[in-house]
Amino acid sequence: MTDQPVRAPRAESRDVIELKQIKTAHPELASAVDMQLELMEVQRRVQTRVPLPWIQLAPGWIEAQHHAGYSAVRFGDIPLDWSDFRLALRQTADILHRFEAMERADHDQILALSRSGNALEPLVTQWYTATSRGARGEPGAGVPDSAPQSLEHVLVLALRPFLSRCAEALLPRPEFSAWRHPHCPICGWEPDFAVITPAADRRLICGRCQGQWTADPLACPFCGNGDRSRITSFASRDGRYRVYACDVCRKYLKAYDARNASRPVMVAVDTIATLPLDAAAMQRGYSS
Ligand SMILES: [Zn+2]
Ligand SMILES: [Zn+2]
Repeated sequence: MTDQPVRAPRAESRDVIELKQIKTAHPELASAVDMQLELMEVQRRVQTRVPLPWIQLAPGWIEAQHHAGYSAVRFGDIPLDWSDFRLALRQTADILHRFEAMERADHDQILALSRSGNALEPLVTQWYTATSRGARGEPGAGVPDSAPQSLEHVLVLALRPFLSRCAEALLPRPEFSAWRHPHCPICGWEPDFAVITPAADRRLICGRCQGQWTADPLACPFCGNGDRSRITSFASRDGRYRVYACDVCRKYLKAYDARNASRPVMVAVDTIATLPLDAAAMQRGYSS
């Protein structure tokens, strides 16, 4: 018999601690918190194996892309390991199904897809190319019509550990501070959260790679409406969060107000803490 070294439990990250506090304070959000904790664990496990990509960009290329509103990361730039991606896809689908956020039929179809080498790779390549607003995108050709409804949601989550490494590698470059388009400069996806900085800038946060960029402080990032009288904005009772709802396209965006806050934005926590705001926005007839 050999002595097994006793391994100290891994220290909980700030996100995990904050999420558990939400669960204690708001038992009605317990299931959403538990699902988020499991999804984060899948992301973390995959992401630790993803190397920081070295993306070669010819001089002047980024400026030309930005001028045209094209995102920077082409599919071939993503440090994608297909077996890790398949694992992330399967585990994400399992979690969503277990928490009743996905129908069984969708779950079974996505699992079958994750095992099919011939179908999955071209589907993901084509979906990314079509949705990344790159120079070679073909708008409109995302996931095939026959695909399960929740496939896109699962693809977004499964690709995140790889794409967020691209954001980490590229966003510190000075060229990216000039980007003012409403979609993500890294992967072209829409923002799904925002943060109001202590300097009162509004930074949008990508719903796919979680990259951040500065945008117009008020204009709707979904339809471009900049008419203040047609943007409805309201804050949560504690003043921590804000909703910007557009009266033109009826979509809304939530933001963390970091101006008087004790910590920076934490997307995984703040999207869950603001679930009651989603309900409030939807009650007023807006959609996410
Ligand atoms: Zn992105
Ligand atoms: Zn709008």
